[in-house]
Amino acid sequence: MAEAPTDIASLDPAGLAEALTALGQPSFRRRQLMAWLYGRLAPDFAGMTDLPASLRENLANSYTLNQPDALEVQRSSDGTRKYLWRFADGVTVESVGIPSGDRLTVCFSTQAGCPMGCAFCATGRGGFTRDLLPGEMTWQVALTARDFGLRASNAVAMGQGEPFQNYDATLGGLRLMNAPDGLGIRARHLTVSTCGVIPGIRRLATEPEQFTLAASLHSAVQATRDRLMPGVKRWPLEELKSTLIDYTHRTGRRPTLEYALIAGENDTPEEIAALVAFARGWMSHVNLIPVNPVAGTKASRPGDPRIAQVAAALEAAGVETSVRTERGTDIDAACGQLTQRHRVSAE
Ligand code: SAH
Ligand code: SF4
Repeated sequence: MAEAPTDIASLDPAGLAEALTALGQPSFRRRQLMAWLYGRLAPDFAGMTDLPASLRENLANSYTLNQPDALEVQRSSDGTRKYLWRFADGVTVESVGIPSGDRLTVCFSTQAGCPMGCAFCATGRGGFTRDLLPGEMTWQVALTARDFGLRASNAVAMGQGEPFQNYDATLGGLRLMNAPDGLGIRARHLTVSTCGVIPGIRRLATEPEQFTLAASLHSAVQATRDRLMPGVKRWPLEELKSTLIDYTHRTGRRPTLEYALIAGENDTPEEIAALVAFARGWMSHVNLIPVNPVAGTKASRPGDPRIAQVAAALEAAGVETSVRTERGTDIDAACGQLTQRHRVSAE
C-alpha cells in the first residue's frame, strides 16, 4: 500500500535535498525545487516546468503542496498590512508586512496561537492550536512580500507563537528564508524572538548561521516576571542572564532585550533599577516597547515623558537602548495584538 503523502512544507533545505536524492535526482534539483516552492510560489508541482515530467509526477504522488489562502488583508494608514492566512487543515495565523523606504520587514508566526500564556499578549490569551511547519512560515513571508510587490529584506519570528517551543521547524523556516534559492534573506536580517526558553537560546548559539536573537524580558524582578509571563517561570532570570551572556561570548552577537512598558507594573523605580542591573555590563541592547492595548487586559502604557525617563536612565547606566515605534496599531497588527480570529466587526 502506498504511504500517505508528506506535506512538502515540512521539509527544510536539507530535507528537500534528501527527498530528491531518494527520488534518484542530482543535487542541483534542490535549488530548482526550492525556487519554485518559495521564490516563485508555484501553486502545484505540475507547473514546475524545468523539472522533468517524471519527477513532477513522482513529487505529486509523494507530497502535498498546499499554499495558504489569504482570508483577509487589513491595511493600516501607515502602510503596514496584516494578513490572515488559512492552511489546508483550516488552521489560521497572521503575518504583518511593515514597509520602510525600499525595505520590507515581515513579522511571521511560528505557531498557531501560543502555549505560554503571557498576561499582556492577545496571542497568549487565545490559547494554542498547533505548531507550524518550516514551509508554512516561509510562505507567510513570501506571500506577504508578493502582495507588496517587494522582496522581504528582513523577517522576524515575532508573530504568534513561541519559536523555541517549535525549535526545529523554526530553524528550518529560517533556513528556507536564508537560502539564496529560497527567499535570499541575509541571516543577520532574520530575527528570532523568544520569551526566554533557555534550551532554545543555548541551541541557537551553536547554529552555524548568524541569525539574530531577541529575548522578551518585560521585568527583571522574578515575582513580577512570573506574574506577567507564567509560562517561563521554570527558567529563572539569573539563568536567563548567564545564558545570554554565554550566547554573546560564543557568537559575538548582541541580543536585544524586549521590554514592554506597562504603567505601574514594570516602569516603577524599583523595576527600572532591576532592569539596569540585569542589562548593564555585557553586550545587550534594550528595546522599550510601549505596551499595546489588548482586549480583556488592563495593561496601559506609561506617558511619553516616563518612557523618555526610562530610556535616559538606561543610557546613563551605559545600556544601549531604543524605543520601538509601533506600526499598524489601528489594525491590531502591532506587537502582541495578533490572534487567530477574523475581525468581528469594524469598530
Ligand atoms: N513568543 C515570542 C515572540 C512573539 S511576541 C516572544 O514572546 O518573544 C513578540 C514580542 O511582542 C515579544 O517581545 C512580546 O513579549 C511582545 N508583546 C506581546 N504582547 C505585547 C503587547 N500587548 N504590547 C507590546 N508588546 C507585546
Ligand atoms: Fe506567546 Fe510571545 Fe505572546 Fe508570550 S508574548 S503569549 S510567548 S506570543
